Amino acid sequence: MPSPRTPLVAGNWKMHGLSSALSELAVIAEGVARGAAGRASCAICPPATLLAKAVEIAGPDLAIGGQDCAPRVFGAHTGDLSAEMLNDAGARYVIVGHSERRENHGETDALVLAKAEAAFRAGLTAILCVGETRDERDAGRAFDVVGRQVEHSVPPASTADNLVLAYEPVWAIGTGLVPTVDDVAAMHQFLRERLQTLLPDGGAGVRILYGGSVKPDNAAALLAINNVDGALVGGASLKAIDFLAIAASYR
Ligand code: PEP
Repeated sequence: MPSPRTPLVAGNWKMHGLSSALSELAVIAEGVARGAAGRASCAICPPATLLAKAVEIAGPDLAIGGQDCAPRVFGAHTGDLSAEMLNDAGARYVIVGHSERRENHGETDALVLAKAEAAFRAGLTAILCVGETRDERDAGRAFDVVGRQVEHSVPPASTADNLVLAYEPVWAIGTGLVPTVDDVAAMHQFLRERLQTLLPDGGAGVRILYGGSVKPDNAAALLAINNVDGALVGGASLKAIDFLAIAASYR
């Protein structure tokens, strides 16, 4: 059944991309502008060094996002970027709580919640990531772990406009492994119910993306699953042809 929510296909370029990569972004922007992405909204989150140029190239149809933000507005926080700075550079989205940040930078649910609130304060939409490790899934704890992450990192002020949730099983990121359709369906149904409990007014409208090794050849099957309202795409978002093919799965 097609999602009743406007799907979002967001690309996370991670720490990839010098200025030369902007030519790929221009091809994505041109494709989105001519309707190649079907009914999906599209966003690309490049490294912060490319943000301002990316916004110029992207035009009105392709949104640009940051990959992280600090919880505070400004101050003595060398190397950090506030959500306000991302907004000032023209970003419309920011990823918070990506598993690489939770793992590499020790980010807790409380910090992720503060970052999501910072995004709201600055007028950005937060793409908030949750997901279990392989060990957690094998131990039968996937629902517990993900449920707890949602409960502790989704701010009470979340709405369908300022929050997008991304379910990204850690073991599927960058590995070529993907959960079964049944496992994705069960987790997204669970997340929809959790959101509706936590956010009685807005939970039904919050988009829930699937992320983890989404490629052109598996996108149609993944994106057709109930309560999968789009995709967060890492590696395959670096190539315009692959990113557009994934987005076009919603046609
Ligand atoms: C990601 O990093 O958010 C991601 C989903 O990566 P990949 O698509 O490469 O698995």
